[in-house]
Amino acid sequence: MPSANSPRLQRADEAIAPALLSWYDTHARNLPWRVSPGERRAGRRIDPWRVLVSEFMLQQTTAGTVARRYAAFVGRWPTAEALAAAPLDDVLSAWAGLGYYARARNLHRAAQAIAARPRAGAPRTEDELRLLPGVGAYTAAAVAAIAFDAPCVPVDGNVERVTARLFAVDGPLPGAKPRLRDLAQSLRPSRRTGDFAQALMDLGALVCTPKSPNCSQCPISFACLGYGSGAPARFPRRAAKSQRPVRYGAALAQFNRRGQVLLERRPESGLLGGTLGLPGTAWTNEIPQAEQGIGRARPAGRVAHVFTHFRLELDVFVDAAPRRRLRPCETWADPRAVALPTVMRKALDLALARRLNPATNR
Ligand code: SF4
Repeated sequence: MPSANSPRLQRADEAIAPALLSWYDTHARNLPWRVSPGERRAGRRIDPWRVLVSEFMLQQTTAGTVARRYAAFVGRWPTAEALAAAPLDDVLSAWAGLGYYARARNLHRAAQAIAARPRAGAPRTEDELRLLPGVGAYTAAAVAAIAFDAPCVPVDGNVERVTARLFAVDGPLPGAKPRLRDLAQSLRPSRRTGDFAQALMDLGALVCTPKSPNCSQCPISFACLGYGSGAPARFPRRAAKSQRPVRYGAALAQFNRRGQVLLERRPESGLLGGTLGLPGTAWTNEIPQAEQGIGRARPAGRVAHVFTHFRLELDVFVDAAPRRRLRPCETWADPRAVALPTVMRKALDLALARRLNPATNR
């Protein structure tokens, strides 16, 4: 088998981009934020704002979930200027279901930064894009390549996997990331860099999948060292994973006579920052005692939610409205209509079920 630096592979490298682009021309995923190769040939231009929004949404959310939310969001705010002028609360509400609300706040701030520079136009280069709030190396490269055909290859998990297999990179992740980035850059064609970036992403999503790469359908198998090894799925290797820790907390759903629920806005910084949710305890590593509760509130059960760095187990309690003035961070809301982060929606749904049918109590 040739090594990653052998002349044979270097010759094959030069054929990879044309083969992949040709495959992309007929197999590109139909995604609502995409301008397909056919549409580009027909003269449809790429809107950098739409690309930026999609990349913010895709940072920690699957393409399938983003596809269900994207059109409504850009339909409501079709330009950076429109989003910049919108109240942050509206943006956070429209973001419900996508998770990781810091991205919504950053996108709102990025829109304001773009709107504040009308003469300069939208940022085009990786360096300019990285100056926007919430735009890291990957997002900058993706937007620069896709929207402006800049000479760069954004490297996400799909591209890492394809590159590790293509070059049979043995070093484990995450240590191998810099080498994989360099190898991915070495494949970049001189034109159609945006399509090339998306072709690599699509190959990873459709053909070179994590567990069972479909090498017989792969347009670049002729150059793939992982395929040549007979066991492509063993790339990339990963360092042993530590188990996700568990945190525990309690949330309180208090209803008034009109059926509204009391919500409070979380502080701007931190997890779910700035979003509405049920009031409750801090989330800690302490396992709650069985008899532990919140005042005289009735227990409704427990919901679990997995965040990137921990799993949350949240005990939910139901109570009547408090007899006191609301604090500035508190509000009454329609419990079925209000937009909430997923974990809070799960907790509130459980509380509603408990309230309507006390027998469902666990
Ligand atoms: S040949 Fe197989 S392992 Fe190699 S890039 Fe294609 S699908 Fe992935």
